[in-house]
Amino acid sequence: LVSRKKKPEDTIVDVKGEKIGNGHQYFFVGPCAVESYEQTASVAQIAKQHGLRLLRGGAFKPRTSPYDFQGLGLEGLKILKRVADEYDMAVISEIVNPADIEVAVDYIDVIQIGARNMQNFELLKAAGSVKKPVLLKRGLAATLDEFVNAAEYIIAQGNDQIILCERGIRTYEKATRNTLDISAVPILKQETHLPVVVDVTHSTGRRDLLLPCAKAALAIGADGVMAEVHPDPAVALSDSAQQMDFDQFERWITELKALQTVR
Ligand code: PEP
Ligand code: MN
Repeated sequence: LVSRKKKPEDTIVDVKGEKIGNGHQYFFVGPCAVESYEQTASVAQIAKQHGLRLLRGGAFKPRTSPYDFQGLGLEGLKILKRVADEYDMAVISEIVNPADIEVAVDYIDVIQIGARNMQNFELLKAAGSVKKPVLLKRGLAATLDEFVNAAEYIIAQGNDQIILCERGIRTYEKATRNTLDISAVPILKQETHLPVVVDVTHSTGRRDLLLPCAKAALAIGADGVMAEVHPDPAVALSDSAQQMDFDQFERWITELKALQTVR
């Protein structure tokens, strides 16, 4: 059902009035993890100043180590909802447990399914059975065929509001945290009718690569770019090495907006 052969026209994902996939290129920014109301609101405020309405932030964090910060959970979703209401923004947040989907839809606008859960089929089915957009990330070592099949699990339940997110894959290269597979963007856009965005933060794991890789994503025709922003990355509870501070974010967004194309 996600194949372009089945449906030639682009699917547009409506996120609180923002139409992802309509040719405009969107920015999804926010902290890696929701740490407090003040931290989340400060990022929302600076994003909104630049006209952005799509706020990301993790409440349930799928950490590699069980001893790392696991997120604020439901409390984090409540903070996101409060901030979204105050700044008139839409919120994207990861859900890791199928049982949490029903509650989460009251707090968030887009359900994110993370790389580590791309083949959690019960989670995919649960996300497919609610009327909420889903941002599906490519698995850590997933082929594009496996990625497309994961999206198929969601659409097969009746939910076609799916945004695909390339976030880098594991290769032998150690210079970056993952290898950004930029050609995934045009391949996914040719083979499916779904919008495709690029997460430059988790694909590179390097703050110095966020601008050039975002430029590449826009140039190759991505429907959006995701990046992490934190008021003080040095003390961030997760992904400290790759989140932008506010000065860097302002340079990043200003330069990218100057390049932004409307197809
Ligand atoms: C995230 O976006 O917060 C995240 C954990 O990313 P990924 O699932 O791509 O590792
Ligand atoms: Mn992160």
